[in-house]
Amino acid sequence: MAALKSKETGEPHPTIYSWDWRYYLNQLRKRDFALDDEASRVYFPADKVMSGMFAVYAKVLGIEFKKVDGALWAPGVELYEIHDGASGRLIGTFYVDLFPREGKYGHARASGSAPARGVPGGYQVPLSVLVVNFEPPQGGSVAHLALAEVDTLFHEFGHIMHQQLTEARYASLSGANVDTDFVEAPSQMLENFVFEPEVLSLVSSDPKNPASRSRPT
Ligand SMILES: [Zn+2]
Repeated sequence: MAALKSKETGEPHPTIYSWDWRYYLNQLRKRDFALDDEASRVYFPADKVMSGMFAVYAKVLGIEFKKVDGALWAPGVELYEIHDGASGRLIGTFYVDLFPREGKYGHARASGSAPARGVPGGYQVPLSVLVVNFEPPQGGSVAHLALAEVDTLFHEFGHIMHQQLTEARYASLSGANVDTDFVEAPSQMLENFVFEPEVLSLVSSDPKNPASRSRPT
């Protein structure tokens, strides 16, 4: 990367700053592996990525996702319920806020809005929000994701799963309320699914073959 930056800037021994490395990594991938993150976007339409990701997590964790209809605070915001696959019991609810807009937080993140906890006579299920900023759909086409964004999405959604799949009695111990050194562990494990060929085929489609756009069951 330093050699590439040196060639571009003329500095003999340039420093690679935190704001440089992603750019130069993309240059290296293009040069050495003919892999271009921007060009690969066409293979990852956002709706296919989302439905494929839900299919993977549903299978791995034995749960079902159900979209709840209704208007929310902005276009591209959706509400989902998670149900136990075997019993149908409601486990949790989460919002997905997909597209950038003025005044919105700019990074991908998963927030717990209301924690799970035991309450008199029952259980309060958790409420989470998955905030991402996909490139918005344009001129009737759907949004497309770069592979790095698919990876980030799987990671952040891992946090949502960590927050949601809990039966702890106390809010202070439920979901992702764990020691700081463990809070990233589930997400970091779950995001690795993206690079499994079986999963890649679920979250991608060939733009030249419209049949591959169909949603997984
Ligand atoms: Zn994380």
